[in-house]
Amino acid sequence: MIRQNSEDDRGPLLRSGSQLFVLTGAGISAESGIPVFQGTNWRGHSHYELANIEAWEKDPQLVWEYYSDRRARARDARPNAAHIALAEWEKDLAGGLFLCTQNVDGLHEAAGSQEVVHIHGKLFESRCAAECGRPAFADYKGYSESELPRCACGALVRPNVCWFGEQPYHLDRIDDALKRCEVFIAIGTSGSVQPVAGFVTMLKQKPQPARTIFLGLTEPANAKFFDEVHLGPAAELVPQAVRSLNELLGQS
Ligand code: ZN
Repeated sequence: MIRQNSEDDRGPLLRSGSQLFVLTGAGISAESGIPVFQGTNWRGHSHYELANIEAWEKDPQLVWEYYSDRRARARDARPNAAHIALAEWEKDLAGGLFLCTQNVDGLHEAAGSQEVVHIHGKLFESRCAAECGRPAFADYKGYSESELPRCACGALVRPNVCWFGEQPYHLDRIDDALKRCEVFIAIGTSGSVQPVAGFVTMLKQKPQPARTIFLGLTEPANAKFFDEVHLGPAAELVPQAVRSLNELLGQS
């Protein structure tokens, strides 16, 4: 452990009916070869500029080129030991684990996780930009200039992801899980993207504050709000954390 911000010992980790809340960010996918976009550029544009509702309204072709490239880069990625440990943990805890990811890739599902809440949507899904009622659908394709995809209703089809300037997905479910959460583990998150960066402080303000743990290669911007910060590769730290928490939970 790199940092222990809290010295309290409040006994059993979980009471019955409570929940472990796991939040994953770009760091866990980076270890599977998916590039981290924060602080990097794509053809001279920042990720923030492109993953943006205003960019889509101004230049859907450029946004589709960007997402086509992201799909191409993510298509062959494979889950790592961290994803696999979380998928196995979900089975062990039988409903006691709530997995929320900021990542749009499908690596948690590829590792075997059954219930994954994608707060920022899914890279390999598309949907009608006019929300005509057609459900989002699986889409692994890339689109170039001449063939921007269109819905049957005539509107453009867009990636099923949440852009800057849009409301993140599944906030009601997430809020409900945060209320029930007693142990919160953030993995590979930057701690700088809202609303997720605020989860840890929200959990500290509850009448029964949750125990909060960070695991990842680099210290997040909100590190000081965690009870524990462990720095290292997620593929090593996550299986270790699952083992030690299972011992405390009596699951081993
Ligand atoms: Zn439509």
